[in-house]
Amino acid sequence: MKEHCKEKVYDSFSWRGRRCARYAKEDGYCKQHHPSAREARTKASKEATDNKWRQEIYSVRARGSKQFVDWIIKAQPELGTKVEALRQEWMASFQIT
Ligand SMILES: [Zn+2]
Repeated sequence: MKEHCKEKVYDSFSWRGRRCARYAKEDGYCKQHHPSAREARTKASKEATDNKWRQEIYSVRARGSKQFVDWIIKAQPELGTKVEALRQEWMASFQIT
C-alpha cells in the first residue's frame, strides 16, 4: 500500500490542517516536504535575501562614494580623476554582478 506524506498542510479548505495529499517518496515524506528539500528551500531563500542585501549595500556605497568623488572633481579635477579610478577599483572589490 502506498503511504501518504506525513506532513500536515493548511489551505483555505482545511484551516485546521490535513495530511499532505502526495504519496511519500522518502522517509515518509513526499518530495516537496522531505526535510532535505525544506532545508534546500530555506537555504535558497536565505541566499536570495543575503544577495538582495549585498546589492542594496553596494548601491548605497556606489551612490555615496560617487557623490564624494563628484565633489572632489569640482574642487580639484586632477585629484578627482585619480580618486575616481580608485573608487572604481574599490567598487570592483565587492564583486557584485
Ligand atoms: Zn508532502
